[in-house]
Amino acid sequence: MGHYPRSNLRLAALLAIGTLILGVMVPTDKPEDSSDHTISLALELEPVSSTADNNNEAEPAVENATSQSDDTPEHTKLSYIILQDDNLSAVFAKLNIPARDLQEILQANGSDTLRRIVPGNLLNLTQNEAEQIHSLEYKIDPLTTLVATRQTSGFVIETLKKQVVITTANHTASISEEFPSLYKAGKQAGLSDNLIMELANLFQWDISFALDLRYGDRFSLVYQEHYVDGIKIKDGKILAAEFSNSGKKYTALLYQRDNGDNTYFSENGKSLKKAFIRDPVHFSYVSSSFNLRRLHPIHKKVRPHRGIDYAARKGTPVVAAGDGKIYQASANEASGNFLVINHGEQYVTKYLHLSRFAKGMRAGIKVKQGQKIGYVGSTGWATGPHLHYEFLVSGVHRNPKTVGLPNADPIPDAELNTFRVQTSGYLRQLAALNKQIDQSGLDASSKTGE
Ligand SMILES: [Zn+2]
Repeated sequence: MGHYPRSNLRLAALLAIGTLILGVMVPTDKPEDSSDHTISLALELEPVSSTADNNNEAEPAVENATSQSDDTPEHTKLSYIILQDDNLSAVFAKLNIPARDLQEILQANGSDTLRRIVPGNLLNLTQNEAEQIHSLEYKIDPLTTLVATRQTSGFVIETLKKQVVITTANHTASISEEFPSLYKAGKQAGLSDNLIMELANLFQWDISFALDLRYGDRFSLVYQEHYVDGIKIKDGKILAAEFSNSGKKYTALLYQRDNGDNTYFSENGKSLKKAFIRDPVHFSYVSSSFNLRRLHPIHKKVRPHRGIDYAARKGTPVVAAGDGKIYQASANEASGNFLVINHGEQYVTKYLHLSRFAKGMRAGIKVKQGQKIGYVGSTGWATGPHLHYEFLVSGVHRNPKTVGLPNADPIPDAELNTFRVQTSGYLRQLAALNKQIDQSGLDASSKTGE
């Protein structure tokens, strides 16, 4: 659909309605069925800009005024997509349908939904030979359709629900020179953006997707897909996933606890959640070409670098790596705007060069893991926008990757057996995927990165 000048839209709409009237009055001569005088009007939603500058009534743009349907040869069929500010009476007026039909439909039980029609939804109508509405179909969502049918006693309204069929799918992929990020490798394997983000969330406590990926890293996942009428409408849950990062394997298995909670656990029943997430800046914001240089850009000499740098645009959100309490929210010449968070007795995290703090951040405030605390900037001694992140254990700078951190609650011993039974099928599927990738030779594991 192009952006037609408004006058053309109007003309097209008038022409279409003209065609419709003609079609009803004079049966078209279709070669394959001479009695057929079905006309389908496909009216497309007008490119919606802002309703504020619409001084005229929204008019339907006409995509196709002559497509034929053989479904009900005795009925004229109309299709219409609800526009901004439409109500049913306006739609009926546009389509030249008598107001009496509208009244009859709105008298039926269950017609409330039709008093609140939603822009973008599809309306299908059929008219009988007396030009009365025979049936009205209103698609509420991909699964739900309201159908009003004329009976001798008046219209009868039913709501039809389509059945969702849930199937299991799987994918496997590797990080390679050609597809060097989780996002690129995931897209290459056919994963949706949502699924890629969910996969990263599963392993956010163990893997830095911003900084730690290596060529040859690989991942496999088993997940649900939702289908309606044979068409995929969305991805469901990830049931099982595995990520091999620098040769170390991490597994996430979905398990329904006895108390009904759905939670992911590692293969041995440990919780995936830990006290700290690896990246205080979401990996999707971090510049992958960023090269950790030990030569300090301002002092031009090599100095010990005691933190981790994340290059990202100014204004990118920075989140707390773990639950804790803000110890300092301050500024100085070297660090610029910086935050220090205490996490219990031993652990401290620091966030430097922020452009600004998130609202309400000051000493003494409690923060939650993943909570937004500030924004990436280049205040202090920084040549470009980046977050300088430090992780300290008992006052000593440490690499969070190599520090053993306590997990959240594991599966209780009493449930371990059930867990093993419930998840053994997933493990077999992951193993089969690994075999596949080994045999196919798609694996780029011979290469090593950076
Ligand atoms: Zn740094």
